[in-house]
Amino acid sequence: MSASSEDMKSKLTWRRFNDGDDQWGSWTENIFDADHSHKCPTYVNKTPPCQGSCPAGEDIRGWLQVVRGIEKPSDGMDMKEYAFRRSTDANPFPSIMGRVCPAPCEDGCNRNEVEDHVGINSVEQFIGDSALENKYDFAHLKPATESGKKVAIIGGGPAGLAAAYQLRRKGHSCTLFDDHSALGGWMRYGIPGYRTPRDVLDGEIQRILDMGVEVKLNTRIGKDISLEQVEKDYDALLWAIGTKSGKGLPIPTFDAPNCVDGVAFLEAFNEKKLQHVPRKLIVVGGGDTSIDVASVARRLGHVSDSHDKDNAENVILGFTAHDVATSAKKEGAEVVLTSLFPIEEMTAAEHEVDDAKREGIEIQGGVMPIEVLKDDEGRAIGLKMTKCTIDKGRPTAVEGSEYTIDCDMIVSAIGQTGDLTGFEELDNGRGLIDADKHYQVPGKEGHFVAGDVVRPHLLTTAIGQASIAAESIDHYLNGINNKHRPKVDVHHYNLMSKLVETSLEPTSFDSQKGEVTPENDLRGTDSSSRAIHNYEDRSANEVIPHDDLFLGHYAFEPRNIRDEKVPSSEEVIGHFEERVIGLSEETAKAEAGRCMSCGMCFECDNCVIYCPQDAVHRTKKTESTLGRYVYTDYNICVGCHICADVCPTGYIKMGMGE
Ligand SMILES: Cc1cc2nc3c(=O)[nH]c(=O)nc-3n(C[C@H](O)[C@H](O)[C@H](O)COP(=O)(O)OP(=O)(O)OC[C@H]3O[C@@H](n4cnc5c(N)ncnc54)[C@H](O)[C@@H]3O)c2cc1C
Ligand code: SF4
Ligand code: SF4
Repeated sequence: MSASSEDMKSKLTWRRFNDGDDQWGSWTENIFDADHSHKCPTYVNKTPPCQGSCPAGEDIRGWLQVVRGIEKPSDGMDMKEYAFRRSTDANPFPSIMGRVCPAPCEDGCNRNEVEDHVGINSVEQFIGDSALENKYDFAHLKPATESGKKVAIIGGGPAGLAAAYQLRRKGHSCTLFDDHSALGGWMRYGIPGYRTPRDVLDGEIQRILDMGVEVKLNTRIGKDISLEQVEKDYDALLWAIGTKSGKGLPIPTFDAPNCVDGVAFLEAFNEKKLQHVPRKLIVVGGGDTSIDVASVARRLGHVSDSHDKDNAENVILGFTAHDVATSAKKEGAEVVLTSLFPIEEMTAAEHEVDDAKREGIEIQGGVMPIEVLKDDEGRAIGLKMTKCTIDKGRPTAVEGSEYTIDCDMIVSAIGQTGDLTGFEELDNGRGLIDADKHYQVPGKEGHFVAGDVVRPHLLTTAIGQASIAAESIDHYLNGINNKHRPKVDVHHYNLMSKLVETSLEPTSFDSQKGEVTPENDLRGTDSSSRAIHNYEDRSANEVIPHDDLFLGHYAFEPRNIRDEKVPSSEEVIGHFEERVIGLSEETAKAEAGRCMSCGMCFECDNCVIYCPQDAVHRTKKTESTLGRYVYTDYNICVGCHICADVCPTGYIKMGMGE
C-alpha cells in the first residue's frame, strides 16, 4: 500500500526526487532502453538487517510474514503455531526474548529510515505467549533416529538449554548439569520475576526438557563430579557455565562487610532470602544488573527496626535468611545508581533506565567512585565520588569535582567473571574460556563452549552461540570436519525447504534419459519443474541495506507500542507484578504488517501492475509460495527495469542476461 497523497503532504516518508527537480536522471537511460540492456529480472533473497543484527540469527522477516498472514502454513495449521515453529528454529525462548531482549534487531531495522523500527520483540512476545497459552511443544522436532551419542552440558542457563534443544533435534542424548536447584541461570537467579515471570520461564524450559533431556540439578562439575569423570562418561562436552562471580569495585577500600556484589544481591533476592534492604543504598554500574539491583531494592524497601543479625549483607553472603513472613512496616529505600558513562550512554536498555527513574531511583551519570568511607567499626557509611570523562573506554577524574554520597550499603554491579574452580586449566587468564569460530575450545578435543563464559553479553548472544556450538558438536560426533561458517551466519530462509514443506519441490532429473524433452533438457529452460528458476539465494553473504529498497512505497505508520504498568515511586514498595503488557492478536498483526520485508517478496503486486509489457504474472495459487509469488515471461520481457524500480523490497535484480 503506497503512501496516500495526504500522507505524502503531511508526513513525508521517502521521495525519489526533491522539490524543483525536473530531470528524470538515469531513468531516461534505463527505461525503454530495453534492447541495449539485455537484462531481465531475477529474484534475489538477501538477509534483512534485523536478522543480521540478531545475535541468535532469527529469521525475523519470516515469522513477521507468518503473523501478518503473507506466509501461510501449508496444512491448515494455525498461524500462531506456525509462527512459533518458525521463530523457535533459532531461539526456543520467544516469550522471554520478547520481554527482556534489548533487541539489537530493532536498531538494525531498515524501517528506521522511514519513521520508526518494527516492534520486533513485541511480536516475538506475542508468538511466545500464544504458544504457552496453546501449549505448543517441540514434538514435531523429534529426531527420526537416535545417534546413541551422549553430550554433557555443564550449565543450565540459556546457552545450555538452547544447546540441549538443538542437540536433541539432531538425535543426540543430552545431560544438563547445574549447581542450582532449578534451571534457567541468570534468567532465574539474576533477572527478577517481574521481568522474566517464572511461569513463562518454567513453560519455555519444560518444553525443551520434554524433548528428552536428562537433568542433574544441585550438581557442580569440578566439585560434586570431577571433570575427568564427565570426560569418561560422555562423547562430547559443552561448557555453558556463564559468569557466576561478581566483581567488587577496583578500589582498595571496597572491603567493608556491607560492600557486596550485584549478582550475589540478586541471587539472595531471587532465592527469596533477601526480604528488605538498608535505608540508603548505592549501586555502582550502569548495565542491566545495576538497574535490576536498584529496582529490586526500591521494591523491597527498608525495615527500620530490624536487628543486626538481619543485616542485608549477612543474607546476601549466605549466613542467614530474612523472615519471609515479616510483618514490619516497610519504608522506601533511598537508592542512588551511579555510572561512569553519561546517563544516555549507559549500557542498560533505555526503557529500563526510564522505568528506574520513574520508580524513584536517582541516577548519576559521568561519575566514578574513588573511596569507601567507613565508621569506627569498619562499615561503609559513604562513597567518595568524582565526576569523570571517558577516553578510549577509560575513566579520568575531573579535578576538584569530588563529593560524597551517604550510604548504609554499597553494591558493585560492574560485571562478572566465570568461576572455573576445579578446571582451572581452561581459564584464559580473564576468568573466561576461549572459543574458536566453531565454539570449540582450542586444543581441547571434544570440548565446546558457549554463552557468557566466552564473552558476557545478552541472552540472545548465548543462544546464538549455543546453536553454532551444537552444530559443531554434531559434526564432531559424526566425524565431519567443520566447514567455513557463512559470512552472514544466521538461520536463513530456505526456499527449497519451503517447497518441500508445500509439496512443490522440483522433480528429479535424469540427463541420460534418451529422448530430449523439456523435463530432461540440460539447457536452461523455465518451462520444466526440475529446478528453482531465476532465484538466487545471496542471504549467506549479503545483508540488504535500506538504499536497495524503494522506500517511497511505504506510508508513514506509527509503531504499535506495548503498554506498560510502571509503578510510581510512591507505589513501588511490594510491587512485583510484571510491567509489560503484551500486544493483542490484532495489534501484533498490525505491527508485523509494518515490516517492509527487506530482500524478499511480500506480494504487493507492484511488478505485475507496472510492467508495461505485461510480462510479469502471478504464479498459479496451487504453485505459489513465499518467494515464488510472481514469475517473468522472458519471451516478452524487454528489460526495461520498471519492475525492479517499483519493487519495494529490493527482491528484483536485473540479472538475467548478464
Ligand atoms: C542481573 C542480570 C540482568 C540481566 N538482564 C538481561 C536482560 O535484560 N537482557 C538480556 O538479554 N540479558 C540480560 N542479562 C545477561 C544474560 O542473563 C546472560 O547473558 C545469559 O544468562 C548468559 O547465559 P549463559 O547460559 O551463558 O549463563 P548463565 O545464565 O549464567 O547460566 C550458567 C549456569 O551454569 C551454572 N554453573 C556454573 N558453573 C557450573 C558448574 N561448574 N557446574 C554446574 N553448573 C554450573 C550456573 O550456576 C548457571 O545456572 C542479565 C544478566 C544479569 C546478571
Ligand atoms: S532475540 Fe532479541 S535481537 Fe533477536 S529477534 Fe528477538 S528481540 Fe530481536
Ligand atoms: S522492515 Fe522488516 S525485514 Fe526489514 S529490517 Fe525491519 S523487520 Fe527486518
